[in-house]
Amino acid sequence: MIEVKNVTKTYGKKQSTFKALDDVSFKIPDGASVAIVGKSGSGKSTLMHAMSGLDRPETGEVVIDGVDILKLKNKKVDRFRSEKIGFIFQAFFVQANETCFDNVALPLEIARVGARTRKARVEEALATVDLTDKLKQKARNLSGGQKQRLAIARAIVNKPSIIFADEPTGNLDSTTGEVVEDLLFGLNKQGGSTLIIVTHDRELAEKCDIQIYIKDGKIENMVGMPEEPAPDEGVVVEALPEPPHDSRDDSHHLKGSSDFDDEYLDEEAKS
Ligand code: ADP
Ligand code: MG
Repeated sequence: MIEVKNVTKTYGKKQSTFKALDDVSFKIPDGASVAIVGKSGSGKSTLMHAMSGLDRPETGEVVIDGVDILKLKNKKVDRFRSEKIGFIFQAFFVQANETCFDNVALPLEIARVGARTRKARVEEALATVDLTDKLKQKARNLSGGQKQRLAIARAIVNKPSIIFADEPTGNLDSTTGEVVEDLLFGLNKQGGSTLIIVTHDRELAEKCDIQIYIKDGKIENMVGMPEEPAPDEGVVVEALPEPPHDSRDDSHHLKGSSDFDDEYLDEEAKS
């Protein structure tokens, strides 16, 4: 479960401040696919960076699996991210002069995974995105779609429970975009990862379980969110059996009548 509570992020200082996120709150259940939708400049990337600990809003909480990641120190948040989160950007950010293998191995090196496990995991991730035959190729020799698939392999090599994708198909032609979409939804549906996609493509958004519409840093609308359970009293009343009626329980109706209370207590003592 990811819980975003009253998150506000302001850019700039003094006179020239800008509220990129304004008191944003919502909850995302594990395994959901979520689209964060809004126009350019509405705060989508800022929200995603806040949710992954890449950025720190001044106020609010981002609770992932019970941990408020905004309260973690930098090293701990990096560690948390390397264990739980995969991140895919619009501009692939692959290392052009490195091989595909080395690009994908990078997060595992950072996480100090041993060489043998690393090799097996990298091969598995490259197979998932159908780039096994490019293992020894330099990333610069790949097409745009292949680079994005490589970026996905790098994002999933640590087997993250949450995948963030910031406009992952924005730089791709529609056919290649579909391949990447299918790959992401496969990781969500078969792999069980929570998938959070930032997009301004309504069609892509509608393929997700939940849509969060954002405008000027505020949540404008949420679609597909599971119903909140009723607040406490509903649950408690259901859990307790009906107590047998006892006239002495009616004493609380008479609060304030201290004379009577005393008399009543005396009566009780006698019996
Ligand atoms: P989106 O991803 O929806 O296009 P962003 O989250 O990138 O929007 O940005 C939201 C708003 O915050 C925009 O108006 C943008 O100009 C502003 N913004 C983003 N990053 C910075 C920054 N580092 N400094 C100042 N303003 C920023
Ligand atoms: Mg953006």
